[in-house]
Amino acid sequence: MKQKLNIYNTLTRKKEEFKPLYEGRVGMYVCGPTVYGDAHLGHTRPAITFDILYRYLLHLGYKVRYVRNITDVGHLEHDADEGEDKVAKKARLEQLEPMEVVQFYLNRYHKAMEALNVLPPTIEPHASGHIIEQIHFVQKILDAGFAYESEGSVYFDVEKYNKQHHYGKLSGRNIDELLETTRELDGQSEKRRSIDFALWKKAQPEHIMHWPSPWSEGFPGWHLECSAMGTKYLGETFDIHGGGMDLMFPHHECEIAQSCAALGHESVKYWMHNNMITINGQKMGKSLGNFITLEEFFTGNHQLLKQAFSPMTIRFFILQAHYRSTVDFSNNALEAAEKGFERLKDAYSRLLKIAPSSTTTIDIKGLRERCEEAMADDLNSPIVISHLFDSAKQVNTIADGKATISSEDLEELKSVWKTFAQDILGLKLEAESENSNLQAYQAAVDLLLDIRLKAKQNKDWATSDEIRNKLTEIGFSIKDTKEGFEWSI
Ligand code: ZN
Repeated sequence: MKQKLNIYNTLTRKKEEFKPLYEGRVGMYVCGPTVYGDAHLGHTRPAITFDILYRYLLHLGYKVRYVRNITDVGHLEHDADEGEDKVAKKARLEQLEPMEVVQFYLNRYHKAMEALNVLPPTIEPHASGHIIEQIHFVQKILDAGFAYESEGSVYFDVEKYNKQHHYGKLSGRNIDELLETTRELDGQSEKRRSIDFALWKKAQPEHIMHWPSPWSEGFPGWHLECSAMGTKYLGETFDIHGGGMDLMFPHHECEIAQSCAALGHESVKYWMHNNMITINGQKMGKSLGNFITLEEFFTGNHQLLKQAFSPMTIRFFILQAHYRSTVDFSNNALEAAEKGFERLKDAYSRLLKIAPSSTTTIDIKGLRERCEEAMADDLNSPIVISHLFDSAKQVNTIADGKATISSEDLEELKSVWKTFAQDILGLKLEAESENSNLQAYQAAVDLLLDIRLKAKQNKDWATSDEIRNKLTEIGFSIKDTKEGFEWSI
């Protein structure tokens, strides 16, 4: 590992040199989606941020165990502890089995992630598949004295925990203030304080997803799954835990508390959080009418969109900002990103066609090192992209015949582009394969109809009719015109 990687640790609020717990290996956990609706813009930022971290760690030579969970139980409508389960509600409305809802949206999520060129994690555990592990985790917290049972549910005792540990250390919330403002609620609910959070909830009769436990027929609290599955797959301490900034409180704060309570120590060495996406300066929300799904972006089928934007334009747009800055989506910003990405793609396709000379008359030295430095500085993708734009100018100069490059330097340049643009930033610079498949298929139909045209000119009616009839059978409609032919499906 020659290159030192510095990452910003949200817990210590500073950039730290990344040192894995185990030589050459990295354990990384990222909070995944709750699957009860289509993947939308909010899903893209954590997916792409931790995708480039994953890709960069692989590039540095680490063996990475990358766990990204699927929340399919326990995520309730209003907050972590109240309201209907989001998956169960969708299942009730659509008259489906909850797991049908989960599978349907999970398949669509995977498809959207593939389109964005987001690599799959190495383990993708479901919360509903780890109920036993979660029950064991609750039991450990109860045994340690940091939870209490109430009416068949189990709650985490935040005040007691805070006397020995620091609740709020990640998000910087002031626990005394939180305790002060929640004091008056005592006695009004089965919780001792409203700040206490559910580890296990007793299921109401209408609740369709429930499992037996020592306390009641019920289901786990939302925060619990990540503590239980992180520990199961990555061990009691692991390197990196990531997610969106919106998960810092209460979700990640609760995860830290659960792990400290159950295990007696923290689980995570580096906490990393991506910043949020706004649309035209506003937060995204169903009620605001600016909630755009990825499919709507890819097809342009939404009233706020002037046109369709390809998955790669969206990926490029997100990577143009550092993951800890906010990103604001607008038609103009996306159009600019689309143009910028086109410029990079053009330069890359010209780069592949350049013929080498005996000497290099342009200074290409240090590009690899500069890109490496930027990535190693807390994944500074916008700087990598600006280096690629500088390189694109040089490529165009060479391609225009105003400079030359030796074959050795040419290979190096191609290799830097492949490594940083394609492998690490995950940008597909070559024509999308679907497009080239489509072009190949159109060319094949044209070729057949050209053969038919020649047959007709040679009065070979048998061949001409055969081609026409076979194509019609498959579903093509062919029209003879003055110039030759037209076809459609
Ligand atoms: Zn989580």
